[in-house]
Amino acid sequence: MVLGVDVGGTKVAVAAVEGVTATHAAEHPTVTVSADALLDGVEHLVRSVIAEAGEPEAIGVGVPSQIEFATGTVETSVNIPLVGVPLREELGGRFGIPVFVDNDANCAALAEAHIVGESHLLMLTLGTGVGGGVVIDGLTFRGAHGLGAELGHIAVSPDGPSCPGNCPNRGCLESYCSGQALERDATELATDKPDSALATRLGP
Ligand SMILES: [Zn+2]
Repeated sequence: MVLGVDVGGTKVAVAAVEGVTATHAAEHPTVTVSADALLDGVEHLVRSVIAEAGEPEAIGVGVPSQIEFATGTVETSVNIPLVGVPLREELGGRFGIPVFVDNDANCAALAEAHIVGESHLLMLTLGTGVGGGVVIDGLTFRGAHGLGAELGHIAVSPDGPSCPGNCPNRGCLESYCSGQALERDATELATDKPDSALATRLGP
C-alpha cells in the first residue's frame, strides 16, 4: 500500500492506494499562507490517513507545479507557495519513508494509463487551468528539461488572447478552454448583452 497525495490550489486530498483502488480518502482546504503552513497541513492530513489505513511503503505527491523530478524540487508554481521548496526532501524527512513528487497532470496521466491498461496515452486535465501529461511505453514523458508536458501551454493561435496566470504567451490552449477562459468569455458576453440571463446571473 502507498499513499497518494493531491495538493491542489484549493484542497489537499489523500488516499491509501493498492493497485488501482483508493481507500480511506480524506481532504482538507489547502493552507496557502506559507510553504511551512502548507506542509504542516499536508503532514496533518497524511498522518490522519496513516492512522486509519496503516503505514504505507511510500508516498506519491502530485502538485500543480513544474517539478525537477530527480530532486523533487518545485521549480515554478502559480497557485501554491512552494517555489524552490525541495518537497521530496521536506516530506521524506517528516515521514521517514520514500516520497516521490511530480506534476499533478503527469500523475493523472500515469494513473490513467495503469487503470485502463495502456502503455501509450495522452491526458488533458481541465480545471482552473489546462494540465496535460503524456505516457510513452509506460513511462512519463518529461521533455528536454524535465518540465514536460504542460500541454495547456501549446500555442493554438499565436495572435490569440493572453494566457491566464503567469504564462507570458498568447493563444495557449489554456487561454481558450480553461475554467478561467470560460469565466472571461462569460463575463464579456454578459457585459455585451445586458438583458441576457447570463448578465442577470452576473449582477450589477
Ligand atoms: Zn500559456
